[in-house]
Amino acid sequence: MKLIFIVVAFTLSQQEVVAEEKCHLTNKSQATDLKPSSQYLIGQELLICSHSTNPFKESFKSYDKSTLKIVRAHDQELKKINKLASAHGYHLINQDIDCQKSHCNHINIISLDAFNNIQKANTKSINLKGANNFQSLVNEINPLTWQSDIITLSSWSRVSGSSENNFAKTWIENKFNQLNLQVSTQNFIVNGNFTTNIIGVQAGSIKPDDWYIVGAHMDSTSSSGDSPGAVDNASGCAGVLEMARVVTGHTFSSTIIFICYSGEEQGLIGSNVHVNSIISNGNQNKVKAVLTMDMVGYTSNTNHELLLETSSSNQWLMDILVQNAAIYAPELTVYTSTNPFGSDHVPYINNNMHGILSIDEDWNVYPGYHRSTDLPENISLNQGQYILKTNLAALAHLAEIIQNEDVLFNNDFE
Ligand SMILES: [Zn+2]
Repeated sequence: MKLIFIVVAFTLSQQEVVAEEKCHLTNKSQATDLKPSSQYLIGQELLICSHSTNPFKESFKSYDKSTLKIVRAHDQELKKINKLASAHGYHLINQDIDCQKSHCNHINIISLDAFNNIQKANTKSINLKGANNFQSLVNEINPLTWQSDIITLSSWSRVSGSSENNFAKTWIENKFNQLNLQVSTQNFIVNGNFTTNIIGVQAGSIKPDDWYIVGAHMDSTSSSGDSPGAVDNASGCAGVLEMARVVTGHTFSSTIIFICYSGEEQGLIGSNVHVNSIISNGNQNKVKAVLTMDMVGYTSNTNHELLLETSSSNQWLMDILVQNAAIYAPELTVYTSTNPFGSDHVPYINNNMHGILSIDEDWNVYPGYHRSTDLPENISLNQGQYILKTNLAALAHLAEIIQNEDVLFNNDFE
């Protein structure tokens, strides 16, 4: 209690000195209807801030910095941790975390200095030329097809290396084949058993050596019982399938590579295998952008929020997704983070490829996370279709869809 009192008192003085107009404290119970750009729970009060400041840094300046760190993990993993402040699933702590080996893959600790504040996306500062022509394309996204694929995938307990994971693999492979994609697989070993990435390629008609990757993990995990993994991550893999279904009806200038990874839950093994194969074949310069999706079907409330995550060097890619969300899924409130962590975008980013993750902003409070209760009934059709529309429009922009007018123009005048 004493600690909390000091924090609040210190925040008040910071408020006067540093961020008089940027942050203010309010009683939590009075703030339930507020939709501030950032809110940080401090004791029983909320610190509400605009985005031009980083309250995690500003409000805790007087602490010994070496003891403070930011932790990001599912709330289930952090039950026993004392949080000094919290926002968007990131928490300020001043203690060490003793994670069990299997869970360390999903806990990210960031030094306070390296932490970049989560921003509410500002679309007004972005103006993408030609980003307005994809309405009929995004209208082809069918949330019912996506949902039906989630239900099918969730009928298998898709733990990496298990026979049920392998049934799902065969089903995904058949889906890619039915779409006339060029299908291949990558086998690798997880915990002593073979498991597989499934890849489907549509070659670009003009720039086949410019590659755009759309990926999501298909494996699932659970602390006990079955691992239906509907939200985590049948939602993402079915999203890859739904985007592939729409894309294969069109021609794109660049090559599009669809991939459902296995081995994500054991530490991003499948996406690392993919990245290593790209590098060992000397193809890393061909990879222009990588759109990954993890947990893209859950909302804890009636709002629809998307968290985009990449490194700060990929702001241009963030801007493309933000702008397309604003045009084609205006129902979404978009947040951006440049602290990439814990999903299949990370191996690409770590190897200087341009990866970005789309994830539900509420992922860290999803009650079915890594449980046998991660079932299709927890899926929100709208949450999923807004995120899929955002990613599909961004892909059409990046990989340059060749629209009917362009084809007519090419045929008639060239
Ligand atoms: Zn996941």
